[in-house]
Amino acid sequence: MQIPDKPDPLVNNWARPFWDGTREKKLLIQLCSDCKKHIFYPRMVCPYCFSDNIEWAEASGKATIYSFTVVESNAPSPFVPDMPFVIAVVILEEGVRMLTNIVECDPHALECEQAVEVTFVKKNDEFTLPQFKPVSAT
Ligand SMILES: [Zn+2]
Repeated sequence: MQIPDKPDPLVNNWARPFWDGTREKKLLIQLCSDCKKHIFYPRMVCPYCFSDNIEWAEASGKATIYSFTVVESNAPSPFVPDMPFVIAVVILEEGVRMLTNIVECDPHALECEQAVEVTFVKKNDEFTLPQFKPVSAT
């Protein structure tokens, strides 16, 4: 059976700055200029006050794990060689939630509310994926 390559992200025009940022190892999220709330995922209008006066701001990259699962079995797919791998929702220091992977870890040692930090994994010349790893105890 031919296993396809992992798919690239599908990018809307208004999300392009996010992916341009990750390529430069910057985690950019939106910030509403009117109500001053951070926004993720990228949108054309603020989900809190409906303003379209939105700018981009660099996030600290610090986060905590909100929830996660360890994928240990899967139908044939390009992700099988990565198993076991972690899919998680993290809460950035800025307050927004982000779906991501936790990497460079023992998947079975992770805990909710654990501190993690962003790390950038280059997929190809166009896409670098923001993933998270546990903050070292040092
Ligand atoms: Zn707003």
